[in-house]
Amino acid sequence: MADEATPAAPAPGRDFIRQIVADDLAAGRHRVIVTRFPPEPNGFLHVGHAKSICLNFGVAAETGGQCYLRLDDTNPLKEDQAYVDAIIDCVRWLGFDWGERLTHASDYFERIHDCAVQLIEAGKAYVDSLDADRMREYRGTLTEPGRDSPFRSRSVAENLELFAGMRAGRYADGEHVLRAKIDMASPNINLRDPVLYRIRRATHQRTGDAWCIYPMYDFAHVISDALEGITHSLCTLEFEDHRPLYDWILDQLPGLPARPRQIEFSRLNLAFTVTSKRKLAELVDRRIVAGWDDPRLPTIAGMRRRGYPPAALRDFCQRVGITKKEHLIQMSLLENCVREDLNTTAPRAAAVLRPLKVVLTNYPEGQVEHLTAANHPDRPELGERAVPFGRELWIEQDDFAEVPPPKFHRLKPGGEVRLRYGYIIKCERVVKDADGHVTEVHCTYDPETRSGLPGADRKVKGTIHWVSAAHAVTADVRLYDRLFTVPRPDAGTDGREYREFLNPASLETLTGCRLEPALATAAAGSTWQFERLGYFVADREDHAPGRPVFNRVVTLRDSWARLEEAAPPGA
Ligand code: ATP
Ligand code: MG
Repeated sequence: MADEATPAAPAPGRDFIRQIVADDLAAGRHRVIVTRFPPEPNGFLHVGHAKSICLNFGVAAETGGQCYLRLDDTNPLKEDQAYVDAIIDCVRWLGFDWGERLTHASDYFERIHDCAVQLIEAGKAYVDSLDADRMREYRGTLTEPGRDSPFRSRSVAENLELFAGMRAGRYADGEHVLRAKIDMASPNINLRDPVLYRIRRATHQRTGDAWCIYPMYDFAHVISDALEGITHSLCTLEFEDHRPLYDWILDQLPGLPARPRQIEFSRLNLAFTVTSKRKLAELVDRRIVAGWDDPRLPTIAGMRRRGYPPAALRDFCQRVGITKKEHLIQMSLLENCVREDLNTTAPRAAAVLRPLKVVLTNYPEGQVEHLTAANHPDRPELGERAVPFGRELWIEQDDFAEVPPPKFHRLKPGGEVRLRYGYIIKCERVVKDADGHVTEVHCTYDPETRSGLPGADRKVKGTIHWVSAAHAVTADVRLYDRLFTVPRPDAGTDGREYREFLNPASLETLTGCRLEPALATAAAGSTWQFERLGYFVADREDHAPGRPVFNRVVTLRDSWARLEEAAPPGA
């Protein structure tokens, strides 16, 4: 499946990682490029992960190589099978295929353990029995070197014995840890005898209670990479300071089948949102959003439910590119990718979100005619449909103004407007309720002006869309706006937490919207352009043919320009 869906090679402007890979192939350092995407199953994937997925699977696909999807499941306290399932689902939806290469760090627990024993035997690891507070004290600070633990000089035999006891469950959580023996005075804190294993009595979603010791990320990750024959271990910049540890572990374990190279690139940061699993989890847990797939979240599941096509996300990741520079990507770039994709793929339809009744007083009661509308303006192969037209119609409230502002070319008292695919109508009078609100607009239509008929080309300034009242389908429509009011909600501005910058108007639900009858059979997950309004998707959870629910994917025009000008990147 992924072969045709995988993005094509970005020929000219090769990024620095693709350059390294190309050089390694040219120099014969590797025959086959092997990469991996290694999420921890402690939350849903977000748009930043999409960048990493596109990079890892992209590099492999472009070079005829292989990419693993590896669940980095070393912390059973925070992980869950539900997250594993969601991750697998999202990577597949994005258009990538790992073939046989779906793995878990836990697949390697036995071998990771053997590597730890090997390090102990070589005098390169020891069991420490300091408690967590003392260990922190001994570690030193950025400006002060650490001190050796009093347990650092334990003999190999004693360490082997203690480590075996840890595995056998003879000690309490926290009583001992296994540490690498590197250098407590290193300026790089990651090299001050980092912890490799800890005791943790927790049931693992895959290995159950087989283990009560679990390897730390830094240890499990490099060994998993080596066991899978990863050639290029691509990760984000925060791991730059861990690379010396990564390389140290490989140096101590020459028996491993491969020697991967770690290369770091900058994280994707997106304006007006947060991309940290911890914060996303908080928004979900506190029910600030409706779930991990809430369409306002930058999670892959959320963007999918919002109606973003996977091709648009891949296009976005490619346009963002791979560098070592941190910067804030504007939401308008993402939305433009979505718009461009949907402009070519989404069929057109008419919908009235805030309806106002129009009565054509000179149109015969009970008469219905069928007007012809193209499903897509530039793609005749998508065909046409018949749109029913009658005496009573719905139009948008803001397509009518009783007291029009200057240059108002839509419907106004005494004025004329063309109904899309239909006739020119003229506003004769308005009907109001007791409070003075306009409830109906009474118009006459000009039978000589039906679109497409010979001689019907009389011109008026405005064209508006409409839905026949007798045939309309009633729907709920959800309009989404940005989740936060500032470009960097997690910047800690004025000592305020990101949750203090939530946009209270991020979701508006309209009920009683009127759709043209062709939308009655819209499938859940299908995306449409509601003409003049934007792109909308039939919600994949809540939409049902008898009870339509649509989400606005994106507006037709960029609505971010004003906001982004007011708050330039870096603000
Ligand atoms: P978070 O920091 O959001 O909690 P994480 O880094 O803990 O995410 P992992 O599951 O460890 O999440 O990430 C899997 C892979 O995705 C890692 O290789 C990581 O470097 C990469 N990744 C995570 N966030 C981003 C991002 N914003 N941009 C690019 N790559 C990312
Ligand atoms: Mg991480």
